[in-house]
Amino acid sequence: MNLRRPNSSKSSGEPAFDNVRKLINDVCDRLNIEEVCRLKMCECERELTVHFPVKMDDGGVKIFTGFRVRHSDARGPSKGGIRYHPDVTLDEVKALAALMTLKTAVVNVPFGGAKGAVVCNPKALSLRELERLTRRYAADINILLGPKSDIPAPDVGTNPQIMAWIMDTYSISKGYAVPAVVTGKPIEIGGSKGRFGATGRGCGINASLTAKHLGMNLKEATIAVQGCGNVGGAAAKLFASEGCRVIAMSDSQGGAYNPKGLDLEGLLAHKRESGSVISFKDAETITNAELLGLQCDILLPAAIERQIVEANAASVKARIIIEGANGPTTPEADRILCDNGILVVPDILANSGGVIVSYLEWVQSLQSFFWDEAEVNDYLEKIMTNAFAEVLEISQHERVDMRTAAYMLALRRISCAISVRGIYP
Ligand code: NAD
Repeated sequence: MNLRRPNSSKSSGEPAFDNVRKLINDVCDRLNIEEVCRLKMCECERELTVHFPVKMDDGGVKIFTGFRVRHSDARGPSKGGIRYHPDVTLDEVKALAALMTLKTAVVNVPFGGAKGAVVCNPKALSLRELERLTRRYAADINILLGPKSDIPAPDVGTNPQIMAWIMDTYSISKGYAVPAVVTGKPIEIGGSKGRFGATGRGCGINASLTAKHLGMNLKEATIAVQGCGNVGGAAAKLFASEGCRVIAMSDSQGGAYNPKGLDLEGLLAHKRESGSVISFKDAETITNAELLGLQCDILLPAAIERQIVEANAASVKARIIIEGANGPTTPEADRILCDNGILVVPDILANSGGVIVSYLEWVQSLQSFFWDEAEVNDYLEKIMTNAFAEVLEISQHERVDMRTAAYMLALRRISCAISVRGIYP
């Protein structure tokens, strides 16, 4: 199929939010979207920057910077993860918040988009420091949070324990427990079964639907996974349990490669002991760059943004890319992949399993009625399968790539919501 990409997107050197805005603008032009929607989608509704002190274990005090951005609440309360990373910027958080608005619309869950972050290296903090940092950050962004206004979840560098501290800090400010203020929290305080592995499971569902669409036998497929965290780890385990051959996996230090298929349990145990997947006895150690260029059927970038760029896109040999991470492919790289006939399932569809099950968790928390894991997984599969079919249908009908199709589906839904709500006053 000859697919088309809008060809005016900004370069990867441009601010991240500009890259998202560019594609929003291109798709608004194509769809003749109402001007008010375009204007609203090209800005974030609220951007809060906080600078706050944290008592360190050595008796000193450090000032940390945090952000919470609401991109849009046109379709419901805003939803989005919180990232702890030393290099995170307000621009990155704005881009990620906008992707959340689009993602919640693609899968049609009743949320808007938000994102938060603290500039820090969580690995360099003790558990007590991490708790004090989290509680102070939560207190400082408290004015935005609420189960009906803005609901955080985990992202890179954060986890269920951090969500529990945010839930507790928010609840103390109210005087009663408010489990629905966060998702991705531990089961003991109202978390959902199936949430922890949901993003990886969603990547697996997308891979299976894409393979079926291309007539590829998933059980015989070879898979390379970049990133060995919540998303990459869960997805790799699921692929292996389906009988696929996961031939490579990496983390920030490098990767492990075995063309016959990795012993995943052994590799993950080795990572737990040594801190990395590199130097695993039953695999060759490779770089992240080498992993991205491996001969394989499916490539799952599930680490951080801007990994497949203009300089290395032509070396990608996979037939399918499932974007587990947010923004792993730059616009220039996207065009090269498209020209080379590689089918890219875009982040706002591929990694939406997390927000889908976050929605299910939020519903369960609000009604204090909980479902078993099979029910949660069934809902996830149903919502994801519908969204995939809708995006594929647009892609085939309009002869555009899957990313453009997903943006088209999302922006149609968002513009309807903006139009019917009108402009206040
Ligand atoms: P995580 O912190 O659990 O894992 C990240 C992994 O990436 C780690 O293995 C880390 O070593 C690796 N990594 C970091 N820098 C790297 C680099 N330069 N090269 C190679 N690997 C590197 O994070 P996560 O929750 O798995 O999130 C991964 C991606 O998925 C992010 O883009 C995140 O925004 C996206 N995402 C996560 C969720 C979720 O539910 N956690 C949902 C949707 C999207």
